[in-house]
This record gives sequence, C-alpha cells and structure tokens, in this order.
Amino acid sequence: MGEIDRTWAPEFREYTEFIAAHSSYEGLFIERNKDGNLGWVVTGKSAKGKRREAWWAQKMQELNARNKAEVARRIHPTGKHVCQCCGREMSIFYEYPNNRTCKRLNVILKESVQPADYTIREIIENNASDAHIISGIAEIFSVKTYDSPQNLIEIIYKRHVATESGLLSPGVMSNPPDRFDGFHSDGLCCRSKTDKGRHKDNMKTYTQDRRAYEEWADGNYNLANRLMGEFSKGTQKYQCPQCNKMRKMSADHIGPISLGFCHSIYNFAPMCKSCNSSKNNRFTKSDVDALIDIEKRGETVISWHSQYIWDALKGTITDDETAKKLSNIMVTCHQNVLKLFSVIYQQVGEEFLMHYLHPEYSKFDYRFENFNPLNLSTLKINETELDSANKRSNSERVVRIAFEALKEFDKKDNRRTKFYIDVESPEFRDLISVIQGQSFEEADAVIKKYIASLTQTIIDEEWN
Ligand SMILES: [Zn+2]
Ligand SMILES: [Zn+2]
Repeated sequence: MGEIDRTWAPEFREYTEFIAAHSSYEGLFIERNKDGNLGWVVTGKSAKGKRREAWWAQKMQELNARNKAEVARRIHPTGKHVCQCCGREMSIFYEYPNNRTCKRLNVILKESVQPADYTIREIIENNASDAHIISGIAEIFSVKTYDSPQNLIEIIYKRHVATESGLLSPGVMSNPPDRFDGFHSDGLCCRSKTDKGRHKDNMKTYTQDRRAYEEWADGNYNLANRLMGEFSKGTQKYQCPQCNKMRKMSADHIGPISLGFCHSIYNFAPMCKSCNSSKNNRFTKSDVDALIDIEKRGETVISWHSQYIWDALKGTITDDETAKKLSNIMVTCHQNVLKLFSVIYQQVGEEFLMHYLHPEYSKFDYRFENFNPLNLSTLKINETELDSANKRSNSERVVRIAFEALKEFDKKDNRRTKFYIDVESPEFRDLISVIQGQSFEEADAVIKKYIASLTQTIIDEEWN
C-alpha cells in the first residue's frame, strides 16, 4: 500500500525546486520520490522527520530564535510562500487581517473582504484617498496619531506585523519539521476552503464514523469507510456473486463491528442491492467461512477485545442457525467489554484506554485505482496525508466520540444484555491496581486475561 498521491500546482512544484536548492536550507534532509517530485513532507516522528527536527533545533540555536516558526520565517529567502493547491503566492508574515479584523474592516469598507484577499498594506494603499476609511483602520489598530496613510502602514507594521499581533494572520501557517520549508503546503487562500470542503465530506460519513468509534473497534476505519463509499460510486454493472444477475454492486459488511469485528477492507463482500437488502445484515454461516478464509490469508478480522470469543467459537459454526447464535453471544460479550471500559474510565480516567484508540488513521485520505468490487486483490490504494488542521480535528473527534460513548454507556437501554462484571471481585480490583501502578504492557496483558475469563463466564452461562 501507500504511494502518496499529490496534486501539486505547477507553481508549487517550481517553488519546491527553488527552495530545496537554496543555500538557506543547506544540510536539511530531502530526497526525490519515484514520481520525480521532491519528498517535501515527512512526518515528525519518522526517522526522516527526526533528521529534519535536529536541523531545525540547531538553526534555532544558531539564530537564537524563540521557536522553529521564527526560524522558518527568518531564513526564508523571499518571504513569499506558494500555495500547493492554487499556486498563489502569499506572504509568510502576519500581514493579513484575520476573521475578526475583517469583520470590523468590512463595516468601514462596506465590502466583504476575506482574510486571504489583501494584506493590510494593500488595503490601506487601495483606500489611501479616503480619509474616513483610513481613520477607521487606524482606530481598529489603536493608532492615535499618524502623518499619512504611508506612515500608518509603517506604524502598523512595526506594532502589529512584526509582533504577530492578534489582529492579523500569516499567509501560511508554519509547521516545521513536517514540510521542508517549515510551512504548511496550503496557504491561507486555500486552507479555509479545503477545511470547509472536507468538513462537508466528513458530515456525510459522520454517522457511520460515529458508530465506529463508539464500538472501540480496531483497524483502519478511515480506509474501510472510504472503500465502502467506493462501492456506491459509479454505474458499472457486475455479475452478482449471489444471484448471478448483472447489477450494480454494493458492499455487505460481513464482520459487523457491533459484534467485535474490526475495520478491514477485506471484511466486505460484494453483492447487488437487492441481495444485500434481503440478507438484511444477518450474520450467516457463509460470513463465518469467509472471515475464517480472510484470516487464513494472514489478515486480522476481529478487534483485540473480541479475539477470545471469536477463537473459542468460530470453529463450531455449522449452519445459519448457529451463526445467528454466535452473533448474539458476540454482542453480549462486546457490550460487556464496553461496560468494562466504561467502569475503567470512571475509575482511572482516559490515559490507559487511549492506547486502544487509533486517532492516527484520521491523518490520511484515500483514493483508489483499479477498483473491481469482485476482485479487491487488484486494488491500488493512494494514500494522501491530510493537512494538519484536519488531522487534528478528525483525530480529536475519534477520541471524543469514543469516550462520550463510555460516559453514556450506563444511560443506554441495556435491558436485554446481562452484565457479568463484578467490580468488587479481587480480579477486577487487581486489574484496576495494575492499570494504575504498572506500565501499559503489563496492564494490557492483565486486561486481556480479565476479558478472556469474563468471556469464558459468558460462554459457560449462555452458549449451549
Ligand atoms: Zn491557495
Ligand atoms: Zn444479487
């Protein structure tokens, strides 16, 4: 997996070549990718990222700078960054009125200026002949006396631009060491647009995502979600493996996460809509067989917390009737696991449980080539790293939803599920004290043992 698919504006490509060859960045690690582009982005935690990090740290010392962002601005040869997305050149300095300042400016200008439209210098110069506007701008920037519009510019640049005041934004945000030049690839021009665009996209899959995080399922939910969406795109017809008719395919999720299965692009079976709806999410013998086959190919189908029940019972499924029984007991086990997590959360907080969440999968976007619903082995996955604001908001959302679900767990209607956790038992108290006092590895081993014994109790009570 994992060719990085980048869509670079030609101007941005030129800019990367110019910057990478410039003496300001001598010694800063970069290599060329197979596609001919420079490997502009590395992740901070990778070996390459650490090499860059060390370079920035050394520069910071050399220049006696407060932080790496200051270094990035001071060493930049032109002060102008080119946007990867639209190719526009924007100042790297705090020259653009931010949202709040724009609102105030627009009252005076009777316009609807957006932060990326003009530098404050351009706004003043464009309106230099209108004394009323100029005095209004002076007021916004708390400048009481000035000789001329030009003088007002000088004062504002000294008091606000140079000090990176809260009234202004830079044309591009800094982020060393991930990007070679220490700046985000999208400028202020495209940041808000891409954020909004992605935000809308996110809303579409939101309900689905939400479920995923609530269930504390393992696996790359982001990739699985994207592939699921791929099934519903396009109009091409294929021969349905169930009814043999030529139809548009849809994806049947053969290992439901509510049963403890994990997100995996292999947990989808193609079938036409009508077959899918008549199957009606029933868990069948053929699903169990398919999942066992996927495991034989070395893929993981089940989340860590449900491994025990799956391994204990998957070999005993003989027909759809026993498959249905299996799905019922798996739901019970999974609900017990969530109950366990919610008690742990109440007693010791988030830190330990955080290890079982994977907000890092939110960092990427996926596109597919050679998509054939009947043969996913030819699928080519292009992975793109999302810009940092998205990464942050997506991964924060994963964590927030997962913990909200635990907070709300006891309020849910659980009357049909029997819970087997005894918080007064020595085993449970042991578990809590290991979580509180020992390393994650030790606590992880103990919670797995606890879940195994809890699951065995459920099997003894409810299976047969
Ligand atoms: Zn742009
Ligand atoms: Zn069909």
